[in-house]
Amino acid sequence: MGKVLILGGTTEANRFAALAAERFVPALYSYAGRVNTPKQQPLPLRVGGFGGVKGLTDFILREEICALIDATHPFAAQMSRNAVEACQLSGTPLLAIERPAWKEIPTDNWTHVRDMKQAANALSGLKKNVFLAIGRQQIDYFVNHPQHRYLLRFVDQPETEIPFPDYNLIVDRGPFDLQADLDLLQRYEIDIIVSKNAGGTGAFTKIQAARELGLSTIMIDRPSLPGREAVPDEGKALNWLHSTCPSLFPRNLGV
Ligand code: NAP
Repeated sequence: MGKVLILGGTTEANRFAALAAERFVPALYSYAGRVNTPKQQPLPLRVGGFGGVKGLTDFILREEICALIDATHPFAAQMSRNAVEACQLSGTPLLAIERPAWKEIPTDNWTHVRDMKQAANALSGLKKNVFLAIGRQQIDYFVNHPQHRYLLRFVDQPETEIPFPDYNLIVDRGPFDLQADLDLLQRYEIDIIVSKNAGGTGAFTKIQAARELGLSTIMIDRPSLPGREAVPDEGKALNWLHSTCPSLFPRNLGV
């Protein structure tokens, strides 16, 4: 019969896992292992990389994966590229859950950049109070701009030293609240925010707060991905799974 593999680490993946578990669909949820205490899931879990395209292809065949749901973050481009290739090689149906990107409105003051390097370059110039809202993996891109005071917000306490002379660190996990983010930006007298265009609601409050306070935002546009079938939400993904692998659904329950 096989099972569905969910590439996770996002709200959409968690919601899809809940739907699959409610319907007794055999499934496996995969985390990269980036955070110390990943959210528990109502499904069996595996944690850690697969070992590139070959590792994922072997995993799919060995574990009898009959469909793959790529519900990773829009910036987890390497994982998504590997999923496309591994599914082609193994002949496995693949569906992505893609949340729509955030859209700029006329009163916003966004500078669009292509990647983290360009985002760092956009911060050359006089000292500012910068909310570097990009997680912890890529903060080294900003070491050449030590003139700023950085506000950082991480899911876990960092295990390595923060490479900035002047910073404040908050350890907290989203989703966040608009009023709390308004207070945060005002308390730290933030001038500018650096953010990935993650889309969705969980990380949007800081963008909305910047909008309300008239602050500048350096918005990192999404990486490009190979073509793949995609839906915007977990409900549509469940319908796709039902039509692609009907045998995974206990007959009397349906979608
Ligand atoms: P990435 O750069 O695309 O992936 C790098 C490698 O990490 C992949 O090649 C794969 O290793 C492993 N990996 C990534 N996601 C995995 C998963 N769900 N299960 C097993 N292995 C995985 O990914 P990333 O940007 O570091 O993101 C890592 C995870 O954090 C993703 O699952 C994503 O959904 C979540 N996340 C990312 C962001 C973000 O801003 N990037 C934000 C929130 C959550 P192998 O090649 O060895 O298989």
